Amino acid sequence: MDEQDLKPIAPLMSLLGDYMIAPQLKAVQDAYEVAKTAHGPQTRASGEPYIYHPIAVAMILANMRMDLPSIMAALLHDVAEDTSYGYKDIKRRFGKEVADLVEGVTKLTQMKFRSHQEAQAENFQKMVLAMVQDLRVIIIKLADRLHNMRTLDALSPTKQKRIAQETLEIFAPIALRLGMHAFHLEFEERGFYYVHPMRYRIIKKAIEKGGAEKKLLKKISDTMDAKLKAQNISEISVNGREKHLYSIYKKMQEKRIPLSEVLDVYGFRIIVKSVDDCYRALGVAHNLYKPVPGHFKDYIAIPKLNGYQSLHTNLFGPDGTPIELQIRTQDMHALAEDGVAAHWRYKAKESEIHPAQAKLRQWLENLLEIQKSSGTSLEFIENAKIDLYPDEVYIFTPKGKILELPSGSTPVDFAYAVHTDLGNMCVAAKVDRRYVPLSTRLRNGQTVQILTQSKAQPNPDWLNFVVTAKARSNIRHRLKHQKHHAATRLGKKLLDRELKLLASSLRKIPKDHLHTLLKTYRYHTIKELFYDIGIGNRMAILEAKRLAAFEATAPSLQMEMGGHHEALMIKGTEGSVLHFSTCCYPIPGDPIIGFLSEGHGIEVHTEECKKVSALKSHPDRLLSLRWNKDVRGEFKTKIYVEAEDAPGLLASIGNAIFQTNTNIEHVSMTERDGNCITFVIIITVRDRLHLADVIRQLKQLKSVLKIIRR
Ligand code: MN
Repeated sequence: MDEQDLKPIAPLMSLLGDYMIAPQLKAVQDAYEVAKTAHGPQTRASGEPYIYHPIAVAMILANMRMDLPSIMAALLHDVAEDTSYGYKDIKRRFGKEVADLVEGVTKLTQMKFRSHQEAQAENFQKMVLAMVQDLRVIIIKLADRLHNMRTLDALSPTKQKRIAQETLEIFAPIALRLGMHAFHLEFEERGFYYVHPMRYRIIKKAIEKGGAEKKLLKKISDTMDAKLKAQNISEISVNGREKHLYSIYKKMQEKRIPLSEVLDVYGFRIIVKSVDDCYRALGVAHNLYKPVPGHFKDYIAIPKLNGYQSLHTNLFGPDGTPIELQIRTQDMHALAEDGVAAHWRYKAKESEIHPAQAKLRQWLENLLEIQKSSGTSLEFIENAKIDLYPDEVYIFTPKGKILELPSGSTPVDFAYAVHTDLGNMCVAAKVDRRYVPLSTRLRNGQTVQILTQSKAQPNPDWLNFVVTAKARSNIRHRLKHQKHHAATRLGKKLLDRELKLLASSLRKIPKDHLHTLLKTYRYHTIKELFYDIGIGNRMAILEAKRLAAFEATAPSLQMEMGGHHEALMIKGTEGSVLHFSTCCYPIPGDPIIGFLSEGHGIEVHTEECKKVSALKSHPDRLLSLRWNKDVRGEFKTKIYVEAEDAPGLLASIGNAIFQTNTNIEHVSMTERDGNCITFVIIITVRDRLHLADVIRQLKQLKSVLKIIRR
C-alpha cells in the first residue's frame, strides 16, 4: 500500500483504533480507497482534495464512536452523488447496509430546502425525520452539514448566508429533536455567525467585556467546589457554562429584553461520578444558595422523551444573582451531547454501564425495535412518540408543497386547507394517484389530488368525518347558504303556484302593494318572504291571498271552484329543504306526498306511510309531489328480510345485495322466532327498479322466506 495514501486518514484510523478491531479497520481502509479513487482529482471550494471532506465527516462520527457501517458510509457519502460510482457498486463491494446508508444521505442531500418561510422550514425538518428509513442516515447527514459549516469560509458570502440560514432553520432543530446537543449548539453558533455577522460580533464583545462577571463566576464555582469536596462528593467538574451567542440573541428576541438582562443569568454545570452524587450535590447547592421555588426538575428519575437526563434547579446566587444549575453524571453528559447517536456507540464495556444509563439504553433499544418492526421511519416516529410531533401528518400537494394536518385528516380536510373553494367544489380525491373515498384517513408522505366540479356542493355527510376546524366551519357555512338558497327558490315556486290558482301572478301585483306587504312583515326584500315560505314559516296560500287582494281586478272564482294544484316536481337534488323521511324511506317510483313542516322545509313521505293520515289534519301544509322523470341520485330505503337461520346467513344476504351493486348502509335484527330471523336492512338504491332487482336477487337464496318494505 502506498504510504502517501495512508496519510489523510491516519487521524481517523487512530481514533477508530480505540474501539474497532483489525478487520473493521481494514473495511474502513477499503471504503476510503474506493472513495478516494472515485473522487479522483476533485477538489473542494477551499482547494484541498475532495477526499478530505468525507474523512472529516467520518472523524466527527468516530468521535461519537459510531458503528462501522456509519463510518464507511460517511467516507462514501458523496460518492453516489458526485461520481460514477453508484448504489449498485457500493452494494456489491460493501454490502446492502452501507449502500442503503449512502443512498439515504444522497436523497437527503438532493432534497431542496428552498423556502425560508418558517412554517415550511418546520415541515421540512419533519419531512427529513420522516423520510429516512434509518436514523443513522440523519446522523451522517448532520455530520456532513457540520463539516460544511466548519469550512464555510471558502464559499461566497451569498452561499454562506443561504447555507447558514438553512442550517439554523432545518438542521439545528433536527439535532435538538434527536437530543444531539453538541451538534445543535455548533449549528446555531456557526449559523448565527454567518447569517447575522454584526449582531454576532456585538454580543460577543459584550460578553468578553464582562470582567466583573468572570470574577463572580469564579467565586461561585470555587465556593461550590469547596462545599462539594467537604461533603466527599467526587465531582469531576464545576463549570460556569459558556454563554451561547445565538441563544442569548434568541432570548432577547423572544422576551424582548435588553442584552444586559440576558447576560445577568449565570449557568453552571456540575458533573459527578454517580447518580447518588447528583442528588447529594443538589443538596449542597440548595444549602449554599436559596433555590427559586418551582424550578427544580428531576430529569434523572423521569428522563425527557429523547433520553436526556439531568437535575435542573434555579438558585439565588450572591447578591441575588440568578443561577441556573444542571447536575449530571459523566455518562449522562456524554449522552446529552450526542443524543440518539449514542446508541451506535461501541459497546465493549457493557458491564460498566450504569443503571441510569441502562435505562436510557433500554429506551433506545425500544426505539430501534419499533423502527425495525415498522415499515417506514414514519410509522417509527409515530409509534415512538419521541417528542417528535406525534399528532400531525404531512401531506404533499400535487405540486410538491407540504401541508401539515392533524392526524386523522381526510382528503376533505386537505382540500379545505389548500383553499376554501377547493373544499366546496371537491367531488373526489386521488391519493398517490389512486381514487379513494373522501373519508379516507391520510398518512404521512402521501400526495393528495382533489378533483372538483364547479357546481359541486359540500355533502352534509362530510361533517361526520372531517377533523379540522376549517373544514367543519366552511362546510357548515356552505350548507347553511345552500339551504337558504334552496328554501328561497322553493318559496317562490310555492307562492307562484298559489297565485296562479288565484289567476294572478307576482308580475300582476302592483309594486307599492308588494312593498306594503313586505313592510308589514319587516322584510327588506321579497327573497325573505320566499325564504320564510320555503322553510315553512309562512303559508304560501295565505300570502297569495293577501297579495291577490291588492290586485285591482276582482278576485278569482277559482278557489271556490276547488282549484287544483299541479303537483310539484322533485328531482331529488333540491338539497337541504327536501327531507326524505325515515319512517317510510320513499324512493323514485313511489307515489309520494309532501308536508311543509315549520322552519324545516318539505318532508317527503310515501302516500302509504302511516304518518300521512296524521298529517292530514293540516291540509294546508300538505303538498302534492311527483318525481321528476330524470330524477337522479342515491336514495336510502329499508327492507325487512325474513329468513331461516343457517350458518353464514348474513354473509350470503350481504353478498346477494352486493351482487346488484348496492350499498348496505345498516343491518339490524328485529325478531327471532324459533329458527326464523328478521333482518332490517337499509340500502341505497336509485329507484324502484333497482330495489326490485335487489329483492329478486335475495329471493334466490334458499333460506330467505319473505321480503317486505313496511
Ligand atoms: Mn458531503
